[in-house]
Amino acid sequence: MMNNNERLEYFKEQCRKHGLKITMQRLIIYQALADDRSHPCADDIYQRIHREYPNISYDTLNRTLLTFSRIGLIKTISHHGPKRRFDTVIADHHHLCCIRCHKIIDFESEELDQITVPDRIKDKYTILGKKVVIECICDECMKKDKKGGK
Ligand SMILES: [Zn+2]
Ligand SMILES: [Zn+2]
Repeated sequence: MMNNNERLEYFKEQCRKHGLKITMQRLIIYQALADDRSHPCADDIYQRIHREYPNISYDTLNRTLLTFSRIGLIKTISHHGPKRRFDTVIADHHHLCCIRCHKIIDFESEELDQITVPDRIKDKYTILGKKVVIECICDECMKKDKKGGK
């Protein structure tokens, strides 16, 4: 996975490639997103940056996120709950999803990368990618369960 500097380089490179001006606002939004490994939704990011950067409106934030997603800078996750979530990890990876707190945890697995799509599906649909989603109750929620059960 990319470190901070590599991510920043990637950000600049993608913006240049797609003729997107690198503005302070875009940089702040991208950084906030990249710093949050929980795959935040727009509301989460807004809460994160609003206090420090009150001049970035919710509307601007939303539009920026859509632009990022359109040029392939970030990924949109829609398989987990009603809210659209965002992911700055572009490389193929898999997700562990906590059904309680809705946290999404990244993991990599060469074994799961090898999964093949059945022919009857390949013949009918255009396959864009494969991702394994494992539903779980995360360690933090398990701890809360134990406390509650006392
Ligand atoms: Zn959880
Ligand atoms: Zn992810």
